[in-house]
Amino acid sequence: MKAEIHPTYYPEAKITCACGNVIVAGSTVSEIHIELCSKCHPFYTGKQKLIDTARRVEKFQERTVSAKAKSSTTLGKKAKAAKRTTQKATKRAQKKPTTLVEA
Ligand SMILES: [Zn+2]
Repeated sequence: MKAEIHPTYYPEAKITCACGNVIVAGSTVSEIHIELCSKCHPFYTGKQKLIDTARRVEKFQERTVSAKAKSSTTLGKKAKAAKRTTQKATKRAQKKPTTLVEA
């Protein structure tokens, strides 16, 4: 091995999971903290579990709720067009003279 180009190697580095599991393995970092391991990952446990570290699921649910509230108050394209045509018709009816007087 060439001298002074390799990082220090820890043959018994401690890898600590958020679930409490500790794995000992070789690494260039003496201590590693992880969020998932084979003891708690749904693929290995067989249990469906949401791993929401960045609050993504919660944020998505908030967004869908707010979008639904918005969509119920605003009209769609077809509804808007229909409203416009009825408004135009009423305006035209108002402009038209009710009785035609000829001089
Ligand atoms: Zn774990």
